[in-house]
Amino acid sequence: MNIKNIRFVKSLSNINQYNDSEKLPEIAIVGRSNVGKSSIINMIAGNKKLAKTSATPGRTRLINLFQADDEFLLVDLPGYGYAKASTDEQNKWAAMIEEYLHTSEQLKAVILLVDIRHAPSEKDKQMLEWLVHFNVPVIIVATKVDKIKKSELPKCKQILARDLKVGVDNIIVTSAQTGVGKNAVLSSISQILGK
Ligand code: GDP
Repeated sequence: MNIKNIRFVKSLSNINQYNDSEKLPEIAIVGRSNVGKSSIINMIAGNKKLAKTSATPGRTRLINLFQADDEFLLVDLPGYGYAKASTDEQNKWAAMIEEYLHTSEQLKAVILLVDIRHAPSEKDKQMLEWLVHFNVPVIIVATKVDKIKKSELPKCKQILARDLKVGVDNIIVTSAQTGVGKNAVLSSISQILGK
């Protein structure tokens, strides 16, 4: 799939503002705060400024909708596990994510982001289990591969695969900095959309 343009559509602070009147297929993207979600969206879009990236985690507290040509909506869900947020706030974001995942009739797959350098968190594992339970196809994307040595990659992938209980080949390795993995992510999306 060759996406020409990804544009920001709107942000939702509440799931009540969500309506799928566009009837486009939706690909959602989740991960813990600071995992590199905005950077991956920018990488896919080929636009460094589309989604805000920040060194301060926890800023993305809204559901942001982006439209890729007339093909699909990219649904940027709030990052979870931001340690400095209050439990109340964290619960609110978790509820928002879950409500969206339950409400959307157009959801075709979820891209779950994990940092290549770290074992997945309990929240990552719970998210994956939840998605599998509800039969939502999942694309697992490991971020920030430029931050490890090439020689460390097999081990890091193995740890992720073991903890997430998936095959090593199911993990797409990416770097928003070098662009590695962009085509693999796009071809997974194409496959899911049957394009
Ligand atoms: P978000 O909170 O998940 O949206 O994460 P961001 O996209 O804002 O990224 C968090 C931090 O990690 C920022 O400082 C980014 O510049 C950095 N980052 C994200 N992706 C990569 C990557 O692939 N390589 C490197 N070296 N840094 C990255």
